[in-house]
Amino acid sequence: MDTECCGANGVGSTIVLASELVSKQTSPKTRSWKKSLALLLVLALTACAPRSSTSEATRPANEAPSKATVTVRPTAALTAQSDETVALVNGTLVDGTGADPLPDAAVVIQKGRIVSVGSRDEVHVPAGAKVIDVQGATILPGFLNAHVHLGFDQSRLQAWAQAGVTTVRDLGVSPSPDIFLRRNSLRQDNRNARLVAVGPLVTVPGGYPMVPWGMQGLTVTSAEDAVSKVSQLLDDGADVVKIALESGSTFGRKIPVLSAAEAAAIVQVAHQRGTRVSAHVLASQDLPRVLEAGVDDIAHMVSNSLSDDMIARIVKAGIYWVPTIELWKNVGSGGQQAVSNLGRFVAAGGKVALGTDYAGYAAEFDLGMPVRELEWMLEAGMTAQQIILAGTQNAAYVCNLEHELGTLEAGKIADVLIVDGDPLQDIHALLNVRMVIHNGEIIRVTPAPPTARPTATANSLPPLSGSGGGRIAFSSNRDGNYGLHIMNSDGTDQWRLTKSLYEDRHPVWSPDGTRIAASRNEPATDL
Ligand SMILES: [Zn+2]
Repeated sequence: MDTECCGANGVGSTIVLASELVSKQTSPKTRSWKKSLALLLVLALTACAPRSSTSEATRPANEAPSKATVTVRPTAALTAQSDETVALVNGTLVDGTGADPLPDAAVVIQKGRIVSVGSRDEVHVPAGAKVIDVQGATILPGFLNAHVHLGFDQSRLQAWAQAGVTTVRDLGVSPSPDIFLRRNSLRQDNRNARLVAVGPLVTVPGGYPMVPWGMQGLTVTSAEDAVSKVSQLLDDGADVVKIALESGSTFGRKIPVLSAAEAAAIVQVAHQRGTRVSAHVLASQDLPRVLEAGVDDIAHMVSNSLSDDMIARIVKAGIYWVPTIELWKNVGSGGQQAVSNLGRFVAAGGKVALGTDYAGYAAEFDLGMPVRELEWMLEAGMTAQQIILAGTQNAAYVCNLEHELGTLEAGKIADVLIVDGDPLQDIHALLNVRMVIHNGEIIRVTPAPPTARPTATANSLPPLSGSGGGRIAFSSNRDGNYGLHIMNSDGTDQWRLTKSLYEDRHPVWSPDGTRIAASRNEPATDL
């Protein structure tokens, strides 16, 4: 029953994610959907923070006109002061709009907002700005995970934020009178990822998620009742509305579901109130309800057969799809079908928003950057650029925050993720977090690798079986992770590995001749 399986450990979270990759990918998925009792919404609402209201950062004042004079290396624990202007320079901009990367870019941040962004030549850096040379790193928007549960938890929110996932959308909790006050309290601490919350699912008596999970929802009995209760839900503070359009086919039973009139009435009131509606659906049989209701996003990719015609209709309706492939992989069946469906939806021009259903099933999910979900998106045929778009601009859209977040553009809230390497070439570069900025405040700076760590090649080593000369080079990233490169005689990598992910069979040696690791499951020792 306990879905709390993923502990948060702050700064080290991306390392944990990477180290878990191998074991997760190779461990058998034997859990059965029907056997599992604990789905979503087993909430550990332990926070008892005082009630308070939330305000995002205010808009910037006009910037002062002149040049930067201060240069600060991003190796100390910097914190942007409230009135301090920060300029990120010498980075490659991947701005979340899908535009081509812009080298030698600059981003100027003031009072929590981006005031200018673009080519270094064109961006004015105000006098007195704290200039941060990111040394060729990639500057992206903070990511959003648009489908999580158990988000009302400080340690998880901090783990997400530390990994550069600066916003999460919690897609369902049991009804609780103070749920949005809890959200507001959690938003007061800027170390926490921004929590976007729907509150309870809107459903009908005897419907999902009461069946099959025994979890409570907000039940409505007519279109009028739906308008009244959803209006109240929005008054209470729901950021987005989630409705259940689940008729039960995935569970092999028929359960009551919102009528077309009820669903349409809910969507209408939400849209009138300036927000969006997400629909829970698991199987393609319920997709006509989604179209009929006119919701804005579908909270799961369906894991059964999906017709080209239905894909075309959803694309035409402009409905976003949140794949949650990680859910299906955890369930143990339907994952490959969901990956295939996702690929066809994207090929047909469909819009995808990143979301995993974190903690929505009694299994382990990636906390922090959901790297396995990104890998399955790659497998589905999405490009790295499309994946980044899904995790930024598109995820902001389904959170109803696209005017504030999701891209690096003047006027938007300064949520920024800076990583070493090029995530357009290798999406795993998103794990090489160098800095995270949330609401304009630097909340993470990864220390530079210790200078004592070897960075040069070492040749006085025992020859490696099958290697071309056995030369080993070391590289480091800002997570404190390091790579080991077994090199060919011409200097190219024959193969390489990292502290956390390494290949079978080849023994690895440190420069002083110490054997580090020899097999997949043998932990590497520190250098
Ligand atoms: Zn969910």
